[in-house]
Amino acid sequence: MEKVDLKNYNLKELESFLEGLGEKKFRGKQIFQWIHKGVMTIDEMTNLSKELRVKIKEKAYIGNLKAENVLISKIDGTRKYLFVLEDGNIIESVLMRYEHGNTVCVSCQVGCRMGCTFCASTLEGVVRNLTAGEILDQVISIQRDIGDRVSNVVLMGSGEPLDNYDEILKFLSLVNHSEGLNIGLRSITISTCGIVPKMMDLADRKLQITLAISLHAPNDGLRNTMMPVNRKYPIEELLKACKYYVDKTGRRITFEYALIRDVNDSESHALELARRMKGILSHINLIPLNKVDEREYESAQLDRVRKFQGVLKKHGVEATIRRELGSDINAACGQLRRRYLKGQENK
Ligand code: SAH
Repeated sequence: MEKVDLKNYNLKELESFLEGLGEKKFRGKQIFQWIHKGVMTIDEMTNLSKELRVKIKEKAYIGNLKAENVLISKIDGTRKYLFVLEDGNIIESVLMRYEHGNTVCVSCQVGCRMGCTFCASTLEGVVRNLTAGEILDQVISIQRDIGDRVSNVVLMGSGEPLDNYDEILKFLSLVNHSEGLNIGLRSITISTCGIVPKMMDLADRKLQITLAISLHAPNDGLRNTMMPVNRKYPIEELLKACKYYVDKTGRRITFEYALIRDVNDSESHALELARRMKGILSHINLIPLNKVDEREYESAQLDRVRKFQGVLKKHGVEATIRRELGSDINAACGQLRRRYLKGQENK
């Protein structure tokens, strides 16, 4: 029988695993606490007897990410991690240090299958989904590395969270657990390219997370050329789902808009976007595009970004320009992994 990864178990699953071994239920909680405190082996769980540890190890292990490489920005302390999974796959995660605390950006899939034309993560499609434990371990490992608490999590790394929905829901319950990292749902953001049925389901759950939508274009004609998902769920349907989400949760939606030179950065695009935002409790995050080597898109010039923001503001739409962090270790969105894989090929 294949051994199970205890990091991927929630408290209930751990308790029944221990009961299955003929042990008391409370042992499950002890193990949960150890794992979420960041221990990497069962032998470190010193309040379990040696015999019990041996018994557990016959059936289970603790999956650990291995940091293959860590780039640290000299400017602002941003850290980019290249992690190797137990099966040898590679993912990346980012730590951003703000005055209000440490934010970790996690990946939820190895690669991505959404096919956005400006994104590096999707160039070779998706390899597999990450388990909830593997998503959680990005936070645990980074917390261990910096010796400081992570206060916020954004699901904005590689992959589409709503394309790995069940594991994401499990991850939320793990990371939010009072016996674990205890990170509040209000401190967690899920970013999606707009998978409407899953957004509706999420709305019905009334979680207090922040939902971010990768919009990037104000009309279907343009969005179709940038994001294949738009052919399935066009903007009107997407915005309807956003309104439903706001109605159900009372939470404001964040819209992400990456500004690409001469593609979506004109004043008329801004105007169109402002009209689209009417009646939605929203906030727009303007992101100067991160240049991806394999793609021909260029970042919008800063004066265009400011003008774009000005038009939105004039029409009553709140918009901020995302500050660039870690510019000296710039390996944007999925590029660190790609460079690593390419390096391996050339060896
Ligand atoms: N799949 C999810 C989350 C991962 S991407 C989503 O689509 O939202 C996180 C954010 O980075 C998304 O808004 C995505 O559109 C954006 N992004 C991807 N490539 C980018 C690039 N080259 N420059 C700027 N933002 C990019």
